[in-house]
Amino acid sequence: MPAVRAVIYEAFGEPPSVREVADPTPPYDGVVVRVEATGLCRSDWHGWRGHDPDIKLPHVPGHELAGTIVEVGRDVAKWKAGDRVVVPFICACGVCGPCRAGDYQVCDDQEQPGFTHWGSFAELVALHRADLNMVRLPDDLDFVTAAALGCRFATAHRAVVAQGRVAAGEWVAVYGCGGVGLSAVMIAVAAGARVVAVDVSQAALAAAKELGATATIDASGGDVVARVFEATDGGAHLSIDALGSAGTAFDSIASLRKRGRHIQVGLMLGDDAHAPVPMDLVVARELEIRGSHGMAARDYGAMLASIAEGRLDPSRLVGRTISLDEAPAALMAMDGPQLVAGMNVILPRSYT
Ligand SMILES: [Zn+2]
Ligand SMILES: [Zn+2]
Repeated sequence: MPAVRAVIYEAFGEPPSVREVADPTPPYDGVVVRVEATGLCRSDWHGWRGHDPDIKLPHVPGHELAGTIVEVGRDVAKWKAGDRVVVPFICACGVCGPCRAGDYQVCDDQEQPGFTHWGSFAELVALHRADLNMVRLPDDLDFVTAAALGCRFATAHRAVVAQGRVAAGEWVAVYGCGGVGLSAVMIAVAAGARVVAVDVSQAALAAAKELGATATIDASGGDVVARVFEATDGGAHLSIDALGSAGTAFDSIASLRKRGRHIQVGLMLGDDAHAPVPMDLVVARELEIRGSHGMAARDYGAMLASIAEGRLDPSRLVGRTISLDEAPAALMAMDGPQLVAGMNVILPRSYT
């Protein structure tokens, strides 16, 4: 039987290995994609730690992929072998209530590569419902840059622009400057906002500054909310928790000025799932709290146009590229603080 190399784990929290697994076949409505680049995201770490109930063992993680279609299912109309694609990590069904309303990102019956089925830390990955969910890559967009468009960059774009309704001249606080947070910094700056970036990593804060943040706050110094208020001349108009923790969510909401908007982007899992909210401030300041969950394939056009025009440059968010063999260690290293700013992108077909 033909086989492909993949990162696989047999138990949650145990070291994954790299080994050959069965060659995937496309679902009737899906495709098999040769993975050219795939981002290593905090959600993969959550999955490996056992925080995601969708995952069945053994499991191949990975959901932020860009690649080339090599095989199509019999019911696929829009795609053919050789097409260069990226896929939103939420593959929608197209027929449920939210999908009929256009909200594919909250589909009732979603498939997620690397969660509901085997993912892209492999040379090949099978994807579902291709006609609804694949996005064609512009010819001049390289695969490494494109990898994060399926998850972190698109998620940040929807959080800042659609859900956050950012406006020029506003103060935007970004809590957590990993992949989503740095993407949010870039997108808010491009919209003409002034950004205050918050993190505990000097490397992450330096990267945020490089991307145009007006101010940075090292959260390990404490008193973060007061410092955000000071830096933003009375509180942020828009604040984004890009990390996803009880502490950052609380501080993000508390650092808003009156009528401010909090957007929860970082996943709230495990002990953080039901985090406390300063509801007194929500009432007194008329704050708004919204979640943001990925971005539907049909909404990619505006983001891709901004990239084509050069207003957004996601290639600046790539921290380093690694091979499949280096991926298990990089995944496990997310237990601790990130030492290298920006996104780790795995190249599954490179060897070390
Ligand atoms: Zn992701
Ligand atoms: Zn649906």
